[in-house]
Amino acid sequence: MGSDDRHRLAPTSVTARVELETVQPPLLQEDEPPPFSVIAGSETSPYLITCDHAGRELPRALGTLGLSRAELDRHIAWDIGAGGVARRLATELGAFLIMQPYSRLVIDCNRPLDAPSSIAQHSEYTAVPGNHRISAPDAEMRARSIFHPYHHRIRCELERRATQGQPTIFIAMHSFTPTFMSVARPWHIGVLYNRDSRLGRILLELLSREAALVVGDNEPYAASDRTDYGIVQYGERRGNPHVELEIRQDLIADDAGQTAWAELLARLFREASTRFPS
Ligand SMILES: [Zn+2]
Repeated sequence: MGSDDRHRLAPTSVTARVELETVQPPLLQEDEPPPFSVIAGSETSPYLITCDHAGRELPRALGTLGLSRAELDRHIAWDIGAGGVARRLATELGAFLIMQPYSRLVIDCNRPLDAPSSIAQHSEYTAVPGNHRISAPDAEMRARSIFHPYHHRIRCELERRATQGQPTIFIAMHSFTPTFMSVARPWHIGVLYNRDSRLGRILLELLSREAALVVGDNEPYAASDRTDYGIVQYGERRGNPHVELEIRQDLIADDAGQTAWAELLARLFREASTRFPS
């Protein structure tokens, strides 16, 4: 692009930005939850846990996205039980924990922004009217209000650790629905990875020793660049050992289940971490 083109384009982009800020009210008001919550953990722990789908909050400005309360309580809106397991596991491991409280239907923090499922038009059998033909400025506002601040906070922590020489083992905590599109899923837990399976392979081996567990190897779905964000950005691209975990939601719907799974995973992660040089 020549200098003349730059000159011509500049006023347009400034105008667009001003319009975005003056025509649209901010998505999150001051009395609404911030787009992330953090538990700092121990400065000697290598673990960093994220929970992208921990909550089902909706910004007041978006109403109900056209969905009933019953739909917004379902797995399509959030990862049932995942936040509870993540909190307990972080306590066990002294991990840095960051959780995102807004519904994945507002914007999915485990998708690249240009993925079609970033702001889902449908989820399972449910159409999401509030996301239908969303305008580019509205999508940008959701990203600016939730996606970017959440991921910026994760990057800040990773950079702090790199500067201070604190190693990182990255865990992305999720949960999956027992039945999807009328198909029952047999796995109790899924271990997901993309190009780098170092930690995933170790966990798969350790989980396979646990009696009565059905363990998914990249099941109920495989990780990929288009359907995942955290492990790609913070694991693969930074060379940090990492894994994405999916626990079946009926197993972690209550305190007892969340505690039991957190204790099991803490034991296995402690064992797995001895196989990584720190
Ligand atoms: Zn999830």
